[in-house]
Amino acid sequence: MLGPVLLAAARSDGLRRVVASAPVTRPVVDRFVAGETLDSALAAVRSLTDRRLEVTLDHLGEDVTDASEALRARDAYLALAEALAAEGLGERAEMSVKLSAFGQALPGGHEIAHNNVLPVVEAAAAAGTTVTLDMEDHTTVDSTLAVLADLRAKFPQTGAVLQSYLYRTEDDCAALAVAGSRVRLVKGAYREPADVAYQDKHQVDRAYVRCLKTLMAGGGYPMIGSHDPRLVAITEALAARFGRKPGEYEFQMLYGIREAEQHRLAEAGHRMRVYVPYGTDWYGYFMRRLAERPANLAFFARSLVSR
Ligand code: FAD
Repeated sequence: MLGPVLLAAARSDGLRRVVASAPVTRPVVDRFVAGETLDSALAAVRSLTDRRLEVTLDHLGEDVTDASEALRARDAYLALAEALAAEGLGERAEMSVKLSAFGQALPGGHEIAHNNVLPVVEAAAAAGTTVTLDMEDHTTVDSTLAVLADLRAKFPQTGAVLQSYLYRTEDDCAALAVAGSRVRLVKGAYREPADVAYQDKHQVDRAYVRCLKTLMAGGGYPMIGSHDPRLVAITEALAARFGRKPGEYEFQMLYGIREAEQHRLAEAGHRMRVYVPYGTDWYGYFMRRLAERPANLAFFARSLVSR
């Protein structure tokens, strides 16, 4: 029951101010976020890549309400691409972007987001890496997939994210299970209504497996974005069934979550990519992580009480 409350709170500006200013918040946030600066993110990346992990970096930010904020988001990613090139990290580190940070919700937002993300995708290619478009709430899916299709015409390695909780996703998976495409499959992290999304966890899991089969059987590059041990095991079984070797698909997990499992998979020879968020605008991301797991909230609450 707490999950929907926390997801609603994730979009409350009032609560954002309270949570962000509470002195105890920082250590809890640090578990999920690799610092506020590019330097702190790069330090986290180095320690992960030193241990055979790959990364995708997310400069935190979403739901911008004016065009200048969207340009700041674009510039942060351009600086990131430059840093990845300078550090020679292009092969191990890619970038994840949220189009709502690039202005997607503004009037004329589809074009604004497209125009802002294009130079980032170009800079990524110049740095020897690529970009994956994160997926946000269901109202953005058509726009995000349309931007993806356009970017893929010139940069086919641009990645998509599909969320198994949406009824539409099985069709989207089938459409994207084609040679050259890169699809991160996740369960979905937003609060969605019953007319567009499964509400029952088991139905979300079953839909995930159906989409996973489509992606593993298809010609694209599946990216399994989940910490769920059953889905990890099912992926390994499907890889054997469809003759995919490690490197012909990859696992992805979030920074700070199931770290031992991340290392276990990498040491077993799998390609394992860690999603590394950094920056000052961590509130929405942080609240979604609390919503996914009540134990995280208990951890947060204990740190409040123990002061
Ligand atoms: P769950 O059934 O939620 O969790 C399985 C197990 O994983 C839990 O029992 C627990 O052990 C562990 N676990 C899961 N979440 C947490 C947590 N927060 N803290 C501690 N332990 C946890 N969602 C989107 O909507 N759009 C995106 O673009 C997107 N990108 C993602 C990128 C990556 C790399 C990953 C891993 C997830 C992404 N998500 C995204 C989030 C995703 O939709 C889920 O909300 C999240 O991954 C939790 O689902 P799960 O598959 O891990 O399974």
